[in-house]
Parts: sequence; C-alpha cells; structure tokens
Amino acid sequence: MLIVKKFGGSSVANKERIFNVARRCVEEYQKGNQVVVVLSAMGDTTDDLLELAATISDKPSKRELDMLMSTGEQVSVSLCAMAIQELGVPAVSLNAFQVRMRTSRVYGNARLKKIDRNRIQSELENNKIVLVTGFQGVNRYDDVTTLGRGGSDTTAVALAAALHADACEIYTDVDGVYTCDPRIVPEARKLDEITYDDMLDLATLGAQVLHNRSVGMAKKYGVELVVRSSLSDAPGTIVREELKVERKLISGVAVDKSPARISLIGLHDIPGIAFKVFNLLGSQGISVDIILQSVGRDGTKDISFTVDRKNLQDALKVLEANLSKLTAERIEHEENIAKVSVVGAGMMTDPGVAAKMFEALFNADINIKMIATSEIRITVIIDEINADAAARAVHNAFLPED
Ligand code: ADP
Ligand code: ASP
Ligand code: MG
Repeated sequence: MLIVKKFGGSSVANKERIFNVARRCVEEYQKGNQVVVVLSAMGDTTDDLLELAATISDKPSKRELDMLMSTGEQVSVSLCAMAIQELGVPAVSLNAFQVRMRTSRVYGNARLKKIDRNRIQSELENNKIVLVTGFQGVNRYDDVTTLGRGGSDTTAVALAAALHADACEIYTDVDGVYTCDPRIVPEARKLDEITYDDMLDLATLGAQVLHNRSVGMAKKYGVELVVRSSLSDAPGTIVREELKVERKLISGVAVDKSPARISLIGLHDIPGIAFKVFNLLGSQGISVDIILQSVGRDGTKDISFTVDRKNLQDALKVLEANLSKLTAERIEHEENIAKVSVVGAGMMTDPGVAAKMFEALFNADINIKMIATSEIRITVIIDEINADAAARAVHNAFLPED
C-alpha cells in the first residue's frame, strides 16, 4: 500500500515530537508499505518568520515573503528525515522545487496545478520514506509560492491524488473533526465520519482543522481522508462522499476570528454605486464576504461589508483614495469582530433554525451586528470578545449532549 501521512506544526514542534512522527512513519514502513510524509513548519515557525519580516519592512514583497515562509517546511522535513535515518530506515526529504510541484502565479495564495510523480516514485522504489515540504510550490517563473495558511493539508491531498495513494491520513493536535472547535466548546463531539460537503462548509466558515481547499480537492479526486491525532491511536474522523449512518441536519458550528468590517456611509442612492465599490476592491485582489446595504433614505444609503483582517489596510487605502468617486461621506471600520456560523443541510427545510440561533444568542446576551444566510448556513457577525460564548451558546442549542 502507498500511504500519505501529513503532520501539522504542533506535531513536529520539538525534538521529541519529530521522533514521534519518525517512529510512526517507520512503523508503517516496516509493515511493508510505501510512505510519503508531508510536514508543516515546526510549531509557530511560520508566524515567527512573518514577524521577522515585519522587523525589516512594513510592506514586504509577496515574493520574498513566500521565499521566507517556505524555509519553515524545509527545516522540518530535513530534521525528520534525519530522525528516520537515526531509527535505521532510509529516508529522503524533498522540497517543492525538487518534486516539481507547479502552482499558479499568485504569491501567498497559490493553487497547486500539477505534480510530477517521477522523483517521488523513484525514491519510493529505492525503498526510502519520502518527506515532502507542505504548503509550498513553484510557479511558472520558477519562483517559490505558498498555498495560503494551513495549506500543507492541500499538499497532502494533492500528493495522494497524484500518486493514487491507498490512504491519506492527516495527523494533528486533536483526535478528529468535532461539531465545533473543541478548544472553544468543550462539549463538542467528535464525529466518526463527515461528508466532503459538510466538511467543506465548516472549513470555509472557519474550522481550521482542514484547509478548505484540501477538502475541495479530496472531493474532486475521491481521496478519502482520515483526520486523527499524532499523539494517540484513536481512530479519528473519516471524510468521504457518503456516510454509513444518516446525515445529520446540523453538521456543526464554525468560528472565524479573522474578519474586519468596513462601512461606507452616505453613498448616493443611485444605480452603479455597489458595482463601483466592489469592482474597485476586486481590482486590488481583495475579496469581500458578507455585504449589507441599508434601505435608501433622503437619497443616501450605507453599505457595510467584511474583509479578511489582513486585507483591511489595503481596502481602506483604496477606498479613501476614491471616496468622492464612490460618493461616500465617510468610511468607518471595525477590526475586533468574529463570525459564528451554524452549518448543515437541515437549514434548507427548517424555517426555525434562524430563530433558534438568534434566541440562543439573546439568552447569552450577545448582540448581533450583521447576519447572512444561505441554504446551508446561518452566519452572524458579533464582537470578537463574545465569539467563544456565542459558539458555546449556539452549539449547545443545536447539538445538545445526548
Ligand atoms: P495542524 O497544525 O495540525 O494543521 P491546525 O491548528 O491547523 O493543526 O488545526 C487543528 C486545530 O483546529 C485544533 O487544534 C482545533 O483547535 C481547531 N479546530 C477548529 N475547528 C475544529 C473542529 N470542528 N474540529 C476539530 N478541530 C477544530
Ligand atoms: N506552516 C504553514 C502555516 O502555518 C502551513 C501549514 O501549517 O499547513 O500556515
Ligand atoms: Mg492546519
């Protein structure tokens, strides 16, 4: 069997953890399997590298940031290869350039396009455990790119698809996918299995246990995933197309502490204003999430929307520069907000879901700032300080203990 195993940052955070990963890989190898290992950078290395860059420049070049961030994963794969060799098993570490993992051009958020199998396959045929850097690729200019924060999961799934692996195991610091982040909601329950669709919704709305693109890719190529703990032998959660048991109406609650709100006040209430605002932001590569427009009064209206906090300053800058063209009186913004979503296919058929969510927040005395709904989720924007309490209140209203 060919098995792809991915270990996240906390699973390789120090020497002991690296030897723990090495041992798990060696055990698999000694069962007669071929083993490809994808690693993230050790512990908080990626954050530390970003902080280091900030000591040099307020606005470092995106190309150089990717060059810098990609070093973290090289440290962990080379150290882990050494640890496996110490255990008496041949191993080789490869970076994205050596594998030839091609991505789109864009730095910081590149998409994997094509993976060359040759080098990995020849190393496997030489009976080596192959360790591959997660989170990085190479674009058409032969420059290093990164896949977005948390992107090592996507590297693992892409490798599993390209190599037609028999299993793809994502090892992390929790023992599976829960109905909500177990660090925020201790009552959250571990799921034995979850569909690609439900997992994709949860990941997209903030459940960082899997990179959302890794889930989309797993669905596209039919790669069954197992999410499990690197520190225990608990069975974990299987992510697949169909469930063995009936699909639950509410799959979980997701929390996202990364948004910021921008409001444009006093816009002229005439056609074309929303187009101008969002076209301007789009042209700067800034994506917008929840949008609210007020009903026009006295010929003016307000538009509020959320962006990722890391794009807030860029968004404010371009909007300020175009204030009169957009006909806005002024701009307001707010950084310390959070997004809490209840997710599930049951939303489509149950008109009471929204009321139940708002009641749970009311009972917890939490004020709602913005609301967005679709057939599969209801999202509220609240003050970040209330995020954990809101998640607990909403989770316990929809997914009470059995
Ligand atoms: P890794 O470094 O292994 O990739 P991450 O920090 O990216 O780990 O993801 C694991 C974390 O995801 C957990 O520690 C947990 O706090 C968080 N998390 C958020 N939502 C969920 C969820 N629904 N189920 C499990 N973990 C979740
Ligand atoms: N090291 C990268 C990050 O911290 C990638 C990953 O962990 O998946 O985002
Ligand atoms: Mg992760």
